[in-house]
Amino acid sequence: MIKQYRVLRLVLGDQLNESHSWLRQTADDVLYVLMEIRSETDYTRHHIQKVTGFFLAMRLFADRLRELGHEVHYFTLDDPENTHQFAGNCALLAQRHGCTSMEYQEPDEWRVHMDLKQLAQHAPIPVQCVSTEHFYTDRDTLQKMFPGNKKYLMEHFYRKMRQSHRVLMDEDGKTPYSGRWNYDAENRNKLPSNQPIPPAPVFFRDVHALVAMIQQAGVVTMGTVLPERFNWPVTRAESLDLLEHFIQIRLRFFGKYQDALTSRDWVLFHSRLSFSLNIKLISPREVVQRCLEIFYQKGPEFIALADLEGFIRQILGWREFVRGVYWAEMPHYAALNVLEHTAPLPQWFWTGDTKMQCLRHTIKQSLERAYAHHIQRLMVTGNFSLLLGVHPDEVDAWYLGIYMDAVEWVEMPNTRGMSQYADGGIVGTKPYVSSANYIHKMSDYCTSCHYNKSERYGPKACPFNALYWSFYHRHADRFRNNPRVGQVYSIWNKMAPDEQQSILKHGQWVQKNIHQL
Ligand code: FAD
Ligand code: SF4
Repeated sequence: MIKQYRVLRLVLGDQLNESHSWLRQTADDVLYVLMEIRSETDYTRHHIQKVTGFFLAMRLFADRLRELGHEVHYFTLDDPENTHQFAGNCALLAQRHGCTSMEYQEPDEWRVHMDLKQLAQHAPIPVQCVSTEHFYTDRDTLQKMFPGNKKYLMEHFYRKMRQSHRVLMDEDGKTPYSGRWNYDAENRNKLPSNQPIPPAPVFFRDVHALVAMIQQAGVVTMGTVLPERFNWPVTRAESLDLLEHFIQIRLRFFGKYQDALTSRDWVLFHSRLSFSLNIKLISPREVVQRCLEIFYQKGPEFIALADLEGFIRQILGWREFVRGVYWAEMPHYAALNVLEHTAPLPQWFWTGDTKMQCLRHTIKQSLERAYAHHIQRLMVTGNFSLLLGVHPDEVDAWYLGIYMDAVEWVEMPNTRGMSQYADGGIVGTKPYVSSANYIHKMSDYCTSCHYNKSERYGPKACPFNALYWSFYHRHADRFRNNPRVGQVYSIWNKMAPDEQQSILKHGQWVQKNIHQL
């Protein structure tokens, strides 16, 4: 006889939260469902490690739920019953098991939000949506904080978050601990060539069978995977190990070298916690709390305040802030292109085969690791795409696929907003572009590059240089009076007209010959 359940509860692939109140009690009339479906594997071209990581973490989470005494139905990608749609699979189970209601947790992505809203409208049984209980803020917190005003200010938001959650605050709850809110200015060091970098922790799992299943199903992916050494945390225990490693070993250098770039390593002093956070194996609160615990226990000799604050700002500030922007501005945000950029993404973004060392290293690492740290994303690949005038749809699609942590609510405001300025300044107040100057200042890339960082035109000139000036020349009407970039125009205006012409001409040459750079 087929077992009957009262409630069907859908758990999405990025909702693997063992601490959710749903799971506090077991009930034999509740059926949990998780599903590997084509509508999720195919909405963009994902990195093979990302698809593998999501499915593996979901399978292990389903096992964990069973271990805790919950009843679970799991649709694998190759299950002949799988309809590959949330609605189809839920309808199948609800009918088969006589469920009289269904519940799901608030999705973080617009696409899934709309899909499940439709499911709820058409379902023959009542459908209820509940919180994921993951974030510090609600979807509309940012909108409420800045009523009737589109200028969301991250620093203002962050200070409010520090106050309302009493993070790094004095007793009064109003003054920041030690008197300062922000140590950003101290977080901009180049990595000294003799600075040792601790090895990244490893999570070697065998994923041969899973990768084979994904490939046999014909899912189109990018990048590579080592199936005998899958190197991402996929359980809560592994995520907590990674957090502990980060706090004990890396955090004390995090702030100092947060913006550094190097060919020597792929992680530097970053945490690599974004995948665990985004699929909710761990929560932002516990990450922040654990950092604070160690700081208060061991003191500033162990973790300097500048390093701690720099890290907390990313989680309590930026992560919650971009989520707020996403929910305040969707769905029109996904079509913004205020700079009217139209160029295609260079073909070598899919291979890394370019003579430009900074791009070569960042892209090859991304394809091999499904990871690049923030400044690689912002000031190497993002910077170059913006200077080149690539259509933000193409840039978004690349970022949404290639990184392990890429989910649209966090990817899009970072890419279309912060990195491509396609939102006209909603996320960032200036375009994040630079010439070779900045990349050389922050990295060791330029010393081993085919191109010359100091030349603006000529066969060996670093392509960033001509593109940088061409970008500001092209968008002078928009940026000339922006106080954060005004200085750029005074330098440009002091250049001899011949020099300006040679730079602009070389910029055009770079754009035309982009595929052979
Ligand atoms: P760390 O440097 O150790 O930082 C700690 C944590 O802070 C991260 O795990 C992350 O949760 C949070 N964080 C840091 N910066 C940001 C930020 N700008 N926005 C939101 N959270 C932040 N992050 C994603 O999680 N998914 C994405 O798809 C994504 N796409 C990006 C695209 C571009 C163009 C840029 C410039 C940034 C993007 N980011 C994205 C933000 C950031 O680069 C990554 O969160 C970070 O590199 C992940 O590595 P980590 O865990 O080692 O981070
Ligand atoms: Fe990148 Fe230019 Fe430096 Fe080469 S010289 S690494 S292309 S910034």
